Amino acid sequence: MNTSVTLVEVGPRDGFQSVGPFIPTEKKLHFLTQLDACGLHDIEIGSFVSQKALPQLADTPTLLELARDIPRLRPRVLVPTLQQGRRALAADAPCLAFVLSVSEAHNRSNVRRTPEASASEYVALATSLPDDKEMRLNIGTAFDCPFEGRVQVDDVVRLLEPLISALPRAEFCLCDTTGRADPKQVSDLFKAVGESFGRDLRWAFHAHDTYGLGAANVYAAFLQGVRVFDASIAGLGGCPFAPGATGNVATEDLIYMFEKMGVSTGCDLDRMVALAGEAALLPGAQSGGRARQAITARYAAELNSSST
Ligand code: ZN
Repeated sequence: MNTSVTLVEVGPRDGFQSVGPFIPTEKKLHFLTQLDACGLHDIEIGSFVSQKALPQLADTPTLLELARDIPRLRPRVLVPTLQQGRRALAADAPCLAFVLSVSEAHNRSNVRRTPEASASEYVALATSLPDDKEMRLNIGTAFDCPFEGRVQVDDVVRLLEPLISALPRAEFCLCDTTGRADPKQVSDLFKAVGESFGRDLRWAFHAHDTYGLGAANVYAAFLQGVRVFDASIAGLGGCPFAPGATGNVATEDLIYMFEKMGVSTGCDLDRMVALAGEAALLPGAQSGGRARQAITARYAAELNSSST
């Protein structure tokens, strides 16, 4: 298979935001530097949100400034509203990740707006985006909502229409917020949006591993032509509205899967496993994924057998 994928590391935002004790800014910078060294250059480093709502990410503007010294890093920041988007642009963020949910209940609990109101704010931001800035649109609850259950394909397509025409060069990410999607549902939705809007748009997929289907769902999206995947170091993260929901699919699991299939990720798996081990030990972190433990155990066994 002569192909490659882009992994977008979302641990420093999606993962860290669910960690209770504040992670010192220097520690966050350490992870950004090391993730970049592992080959992960597209990293969601934080959010522009109210500091009261998410104290863990209150240092995002500082981190954005410091991240400029990491040469290959292309930092992204999450923005939930037009106002925060403008704030991020004023701070010279190179790439905005705007988030809105298909389901009204989830969007209201997340950003206290209807999906239509969020969509209008996105269009205002997207149509005025400077040429040298990039945009990612995250469509939350594209498959399933913690309040409303399964989300219909038609609802996603209808919501996407004006958003895509506002800025076709953006990256469009369908998010399995709860982790309750299955490979067939993932396949069906990417097939439907590909047929409606064209496969040459930059599609992306954000998987959660709640039921252990994260990697299988990623592979289903890959087979539909998706080449950009979100993942989180050590599987950090969760969904505050989905009890028992574990984190995002682990970055090291996706590196392992793709590289084993001969699909290049550009990442150093061994180095990533070591770094994920460090992230899993962050106080208050809830880690997930499988490759980290399997590879660590294999190395330990090899070390033991070679020393006898
Ligand atoms: Zn997530």
